[in-house]
Amino acid sequence: MKDRKDILEVPGGERKVLLHTCCAPCSSAIIECMLQNGITPLVYYCNPNIWPEEEYLIRKNECTRYANSLGLEIVDEDYDHNSWLEHMKGLENEPERGSRCLECFRLRLASAARYAHEHGYKVITTTLASSRWKSLDQINRAGEEAAALYDDVVWWDRNWRKGGLQERRGELIREYGFYNQQYCGCEFSFSALHLTHSNTPQDI
Ligand code: SF4
Repeated sequence: MKDRKDILEVPGGERKVLLHTCCAPCSSAIIECMLQNGITPLVYYCNPNIWPEEEYLIRKNECTRYANSLGLEIVDEDYDHNSWLEHMKGLENEPERGSRCLECFRLRLASAARYAHEHGYKVITTTLASSRWKSLDQINRAGEEAAALYDDVVWWDRNWRKGGLQERRGELIREYGFYNQQYCGCEFSFSALHLTHSNTPQDI
């Protein structure tokens, strides 16, 4: 395993970061890299977008398994998929990377920023940004907006696709035998996947 020391610069030199986490595969190399750099992430699991609930629980349990193996704290936010659906009304037919996804990022990162504000975390970031299937611009926009809601919270716009983390992610998925989902999370992404088998993403 390559040591990735001294490659991270956290805003304000903070050593504690609230890491919004979408799944174990996306968080694996990011968390490892943070720990190698002396940064302790709070694993913040807030993903009411995931459907069905069985899938949500599988992804959450995998995140919990990984956090526990590293002795990290994990925060398990409410799973209120009906309220997520209500929030997405009118955007159901949007393509991935469209305005539904921006709203989905906004909702989850606003929750992360609120938790950070209430629990003394000054820096937030997300594992969502590690996926090449998602728009970095949308994630950064949603993150900036979420942090701007509080004077004491900043958004860390680190590009987690760089620094060899994509390759390390693949190694960790194999090492831990993580469940690796084949669709982004909501029912709309699930339907889109099953309508276009030829576009099946191998890692989301
Ligand atoms: S495709 Fe993914 S990011 Fe977009 S709305 Fe669905 S779950 Fe959220």
